[in-house]
Amino acid sequence: MDFGALQCTPVAPDCLFCPLNDSCVARLKGIAGSLPVKQHKTKVTDRYFNYIYVRMGAYTFIHKRSGNDIWKNLYEPPLIETDREWTEEELYASPQFRGMLAGGEEPIVRLVRKGVKHVLSHRVIYANFYEVILPENSASFAKYQRISVEDLHKFAVSRLVNQFFSLILEPNN
Ligand code: SF4
Repeated sequence: MDFGALQCTPVAPDCLFCPLNDSCVARLKGIAGSLPVKQHKTKVTDRYFNYIYVRMGAYTFIHKRSGNDIWKNLYEPPLIETDREWTEEELYASPQFRGMLAGGEEPIVRLVRKGVKHVLSHRVIYANFYEVILPENSASFAKYQRISVEDLHKFAVSRLVNQFFSLILEPNN
């Protein structure tokens, strides 16, 4: 007999005629009808990332993720996280983006790809990828780690960031 399907069904267990009813803890405690307890579904959070690849001659900028968050200790390009998807205009005008630039600098900005969906176990990330082009002597993005593009492969990154770097550095693949 399929005990769970015929005798001890989740909705209406037939305790009266059950061969285990003398020893069943659930019946003795009077909670047979409320078992099994359904596991709560894992809450999935949507997050919105705007990654910015800076092209400054032979250099670019990265930083190491820290804090109690995904991808801790992995590297990534400058990031602006928002609570919803931003348009390009919203990004350009935002204090977060302006704050990355040295005073008065107006770089060339290009949207590389929009709305890249990246699914993790508890989060869905929607990423926009941007490229910012600046002269090699620019003082913008000073709080980030400046590295040679040649050395980029030496830094561990998430799959999402790797996808972004591939789009930028190997656009024909
Ligand atoms: S007595 Fe226990 S095992 Fe038997 S049907 Fe009831 S709950 Fe299920």
